Amino acid sequence: RAKEEGRNRVQFYLENMQEHADHRQQVEERLRIALDNDALYLCYQPQIDNSGDIVGAEALVRWQDGENGLVNPAAFIPIAEMTDLICLLGRWVLSNVCQQMVEWRQQDKKLIVSINISPREFQQSDFVEMVEEIILTTGARAEYLVFELTEGVLLNDIDTVLIKMQRLSRLGIRFSLDDFGTGYSSLQYLKQLPLNALKIDQSFVRDSISNDSDAAVVATIIAMADTLNIEVVAEGVEQQEELDYLKQCGCHLYQGYFFYRPVIAAEMTQLIPEFRSHLVQDVVINSGPA
Ligand code: C2E
Ligand code: MG
Ligand code: MG
Ligand code: MG
Repeated sequence: RAKEEGRNRVQFYLENMQEHADHRQQVEERLRIALDNDALYLCYQPQIDNSGDIVGAEALVRWQDGENGLVNPAAFIPIAEMTDLICLLGRWVLSNVCQQMVEWRQQDKKLIVSINISPREFQQSDFVEMVEEIILTTGARAEYLVFELTEGVLLNDIDTVLIKMQRLSRLGIRFSLDDFGTGYSSLQYLKQLPLNALKIDQSFVRDSISNDSDAAVVATIIAMADTLNIEVVAEGVEQQEELDYLKQCGCHLYQGYFFYRPVIAAEMTQLIPEFRSHLVQDVVINSGPA
């Protein structure tokens, strides 16, 4: 009887695995086709500073599938990350963002855009060359690009990672560390890497108002970033109380539904402030003789 049960369990396990594999393959195939047919698009989620101005945005990929409707990134990014598909997708995202930035600049709109880079993408031996090529062919300014890396990237050979980051830095690209607090980064790494910002994972932000230890983590991350002289972006800010606490801790930038949900590019265009040219004029006027 026990044997029978064991056999059933194995059977169930194998079937389950097969189902997973089938599902994975299906998603992979459909995603490949979607990439070829431009069935993906990008949303942008604004990032806000302490005076309430939009100072940047994060590009987030969306997949409108004919059969399944809007597919959540959580349902396809991890699958894409299992193969080189994530590299094709990443390439598509980067060139799409670069084209968009050029378009915005032609309208006198300047926006710093953050892009998510998966560990596997970053690991490509020709990653830097690919980025360089896209920047050159689109005419985008690297100074307006931020690459969001996760702590998973840092699990690879740190010297190789560092060299790549330095080469990209020299192009003008900046870096932030995404989902910070959920991985394994050591202070040693943080000190070594050319990081411009840490993004506090939204799980800490969410629980910071109800849980003392999460509140302490948030405060510690912000204090630590200050010591290292890098910015902190709080992710997933949904409530006034969360924002109040983050401000009190000295946080610099905020991203979350409390301000904006991710919006389509056309909406983002409407949101980008055009006050920059006025600012320049103000400076000139103010610095002139009284
Ligand atoms: P992420 O990079 O940490 O992005 C933040 C996620 O939090 C986004 O989910 C965003 O829509 C969501 N979010 C923002 N504010 C709030 C809030 O106030 N409350 C809640 N509940 N959620 C909020 P999204 O767009 O579903 O993306 C999920 C993840 O998929 C991203 O996490 C990122 O890891 C990955 N991803 C998305 N786009 C890309 C991409 O173009 N390339 C790569 N490699 N990964 C991507
Ligand atoms: Mg991100
Ligand atoms: Mg994140
Ligand atoms: Mg995430």
